[in-house]
Amino acid sequence: MGSLLLLQVLLAAAAARALAAQAWGKEGHYMTCKITDGFLTSEASAAVQDLLPSWANGELAEVCAWADRQRFRYRWSSPLHFADTPGDCNFSYARDCHDTKENKDVCVVGAINNYTAALENPSSPYDRTESLMFLAHFVGDVHQPLHCGHVDDLGGNTIKLRWYRRKSNLHHVWDSDVITQAMKDFFNRDQDTMIEAIQRNITDDWSSEEKQWEACGGKTKITCAEKYAKESALLACDAYEGVEQGDTLGDDYYFRALPVVKKRIAQGGVRLAVILNQIFSGANSRLQSI
Ligand code: ZN
Ligand code: ZN
Repeated sequence: MGSLLLLQVLLAAAAARALAAQAWGKEGHYMTCKITDGFLTSEASAAVQDLLPSWANGELAEVCAWADRQRFRYRWSSPLHFADTPGDCNFSYARDCHDTKENKDVCVVGAINNYTAALENPSSPYDRTESLMFLAHFVGDVHQPLHCGHVDDLGGNTIKLRWYRRKSNLHHVWDSDVITQAMKDFFNRDQDTMIEAIQRNITDDWSSEEKQWEACGGKTKITCAEKYAKESALLACDAYEGVEQGDTLGDDYYFRALPVVKKRIAQGGVRLAVILNQIFSGANSRLQSI
């Protein structure tokens, strides 16, 4: 292999790793959208079906990790997956929603608002299928606490550590490691079993708080995405607590993180349903009960 070609291959591999470390892993997105499915009104569900590309086979969950695969094709979309903060456990739209060149509204919260507005407007120039796929993905991402992590360490990506015996980083622990570990330990490596468990929690343990997940106050807001980012920024501070470069994270950290991960997937799923119901059936803040 020529050295130039080798260099290209190495660069592509490094880029792929960097990308893999930048969003809920594909399981997190799939689970979020499976939860959403159960809460869509029949009207919204039909509208979503109409917009799905043929390769989705009629499954919203199949398209929810699509946005991560578009980062080379649509380079502009890269900063839309997160909204990092200076590390004060809070997200401020005016302060934090921009890219590295200080372009305003370029962050996951701005993206959720924009794609919601695009889908609500039948004459919007945006491609409606892509808008749906981006929206479904970003509502998932904003619920991953480390997507509202600290700017200095790129949302935990530069905090290299071990997850049990494997090399990882703090961001990746929250994107994927906790979920795949839980699937292995508690759900027979089966995604659907884990989704059913989360669904049961929503109607059971979390039923009293679930109504509050739907609300954000302030009728002028397009979505409640800013609130979701504030929650993530606060949870991110807990996630960083006591974690140092080069640490090995094991049981203690795992059992601290797992309930948070499950709840964030549940909240992301319920809230995506609220947004889609509002867009497609005008059902403001109401869910199809399951
Ligand atoms: Zn993402
Ligand atoms: Zn990520």
